Amino acid sequence: MTDLTRLSAADLAGRLTAGEVSSVEATRAHLDRMAAVEPAVHAYLHVAADEALATAADVDRRRAAGDELHSLAGVPIAVKDVVVTRGLPTTAGSKILEGWVPPYDATLVERIKAAGLPILGKTNMDEFAMGSSTEHSAYGDTHNPWDLDRIPGGSGGGSAAAVAAYEAPLAIGTDTGGSIRQPAAVTGTVGVKPTYGSVSRYGLIAMASSLDQAGPVTRTVLDAALLHELIGGHDPRDSTSIPEPLPGLVAAARQGAAGDLTGLRVGVITELQGEGYQPGVLARFHESLELLRSAGAEIVEVSCPHFEFALGAYYLIMPSEASSNLAKFDGMRFGLRVEPSEGPVTAERVMAATRGAGFGDEVKRRVILGTYALSAGYYDAYYGSAQKVRTLIQRDFADAFAAADVLVSPTTPTTAFKLGEKLDDPLAMYLNDVATIPANLAGIPGLSLPSGLSDDGLPAGFQVLAPAKADDRLYRVGAALEALLEKSWGGPLLTQAPDLEVGK
Ligand code: GLN
Repeated sequence: MTDLTRLSAADLAGRLTAGEVSSVEATRAHLDRMAAVEPAVHAYLHVAADEALATAADVDRRRAAGDELHSLAGVPIAVKDVVVTRGLPTTAGSKILEGWVPPYDATLVERIKAAGLPILGKTNMDEFAMGSSTEHSAYGDTHNPWDLDRIPGGSGGGSAAAVAAYEAPLAIGTDTGGSIRQPAAVTGTVGVKPTYGSVSRYGLIAMASSLDQAGPVTRTVLDAALLHELIGGHDPRDSTSIPEPLPGLVAAARQGAAGDLTGLRVGVITELQGEGYQPGVLARFHESLELLRSAGAEIVEVSCPHFEFALGAYYLIMPSEASSNLAKFDGMRFGLRVEPSEGPVTAERVMAATRGAGFGDEVKRRVILGTYALSAGYYDAYYGSAQKVRTLIQRDFADAFAAADVLVSPTTPTTAFKLGEKLDDPLAMYLNDVATIPANLAGIPGLSLPSGLSDDGLPAGFQVLAPAKADDRLYRVGAALEALLEKSWGGPLLTQAPDLEVGK
């Protein structure tokens, strides 16, 4: 019998529609897989088995009754724990939210529920999405299914590991500086950061509001397009939501899979390769470029001279916004409340004791940084300068997109590093996002797909970037490259990952 956990979401949806399998069977298969591999992987913070099976049974009943269902109805999904879910614990990986059960759903969760996708659970993440390894979670590490001693990326390491380990065919991530694309790259999965404003931020626990975007984490480009179309589109509850409809993403993925890129101009970003990039990552990147060329694309070189300042600008803007967004965790309204061990119980002292106990080191570091950058006297020198750099980066992209339809780079400079390796070196950790951060600063969409295994036998990622609101181009190019790569590998890259259930 087919192992239902190995199917893509599109294939599983096809079998559900044809009545060959039930959603209860598919959901149970994933819950069984979780029971087998979670002790090793720890992708989930909370498993919602009963709720998921109830949704599945309801979808099966509606299908049997002949109801018109969404094409993904009955396909299970995992949701990053920074997205609020009514009735399911939501911690954002932080002790300060331990035990909080939201009274409402994020818009994207409402859409998932309305379409009938059983939510398997909430996935692990760096606290408040701050990190590149998931090691800043207050609830323990997630392990990379390719090598359990290595990081699954971050902040959305739980979503990426769940998908890579066949614990979910679909997952939701969020990307402020790379937290969808970087985990996808190091786990051999597909991750998409949509155009800023194209997926509602209503109900995401905000890290940096001008940079945050939710998006899909999947095993195939087509699956990402299907999920992106489901969660995206206008939402009046998000004031930054784009009013016009999404471009045709699924159609673009299907068109791309046919493999013809004649006339498409692909711009290779000079500044996002070379020094600091692992040779095997660069080798896979250049092989992918050759495949794109063989499909008819024209490869051009483009320069984005201000990208060298992107990381610096990001690490001022992001902490500034985060320090303001995290001010609401005051010990009064949500989750944890700690009273001072001695002395008067004033509001300020409760706040200090709660934050002292509830926030981890990385969160404290960023709140201090952001508060400093925004303080009177320093505001212009730090935050103001960073905003000017942001404008220069947006202009770099505008110039580059005049010469090319899409831009490409390796998603990350290296493959997954060892757990603990960069934990005491914040700057080394921040450098993982050097290639992903510019897209967030400019609000443009980006996709990462696996480009092969580097010299160390671990997955490398290929990043495609497109102009704002042209997310369809990501899917066209991504699906074309995926088809060519899989032909050269003789199947999906993930089939080369170690079997986590060898003892069975
Ligand atoms: N790793 C980056 C950071 O630590 C990006 C995080 C994210 O995209 N949420 O800020």
